[in-house]
Amino acid sequence: MRYDIRDELSKRDNQVALDIDAPPPVGTDVEFVGNVTGRITLRNVGGEVAAWGHLKAVAWLECGRCLEKHEVPLEFDFAETCAFAQIDEPLSYTQVTDEDDPAPLPILDGNVVDLTELVRQLLVLQIPARSLCRPDCKGLCPHCGVNLNEADCECELDEVDPRLAPLRELLH
Ligand SMILES: [Zn+2]
Ligand SMILES: [Zn+2]
Repeated sequence: MRYDIRDELSKRDNQVALDIDAPPPVGTDVEFVGNVTGRITLRNVGGEVAAWGHLKAVAWLECGRCLEKHEVPLEFDFAETCAFAQIDEPLSYTQVTDEDDPAPLPILDGNVVDLTELVRQLLVLQIPARSLCRPDCKGLCPHCGVNLNEADCECELDEVDPRLAPLRELLH
């Protein structure tokens, strides 16, 4: 997600709107289906760059109950502060980091504005910690591991009130 817009943003109050349609950045720890799309506007606010916009992506997540992969649409607005500083410049990161007010993210790679890390961080914030393939997912049988959305198993029939277990032993 590299854009040759450094000059267009070089003066205070310069603003550039970008249409985004690119493969999701690596390093989000999840898979995606298709591209990240949307629009990001950057504005030179003097020393820093305000970035805001709207992004859409489709994550491909494992169901928290049955482990089947399923599509999870992500769509969100955001507003962030970035720095007109080199991404690989260690100085960009040495500002005191405050949990509530993190240092602005550097977005310059040479003469090119690179939004990959910004988009990666924004996507990570949107990925749910746990998601279900459907609200009524039956999950996996804890005994035999069969996916109960797809098949029934016999395990439930075998479950007996523990108080009756000795009796059952006798019957076998
Ligand atoms: Zn499921
Ligand atoms: Zn079972």
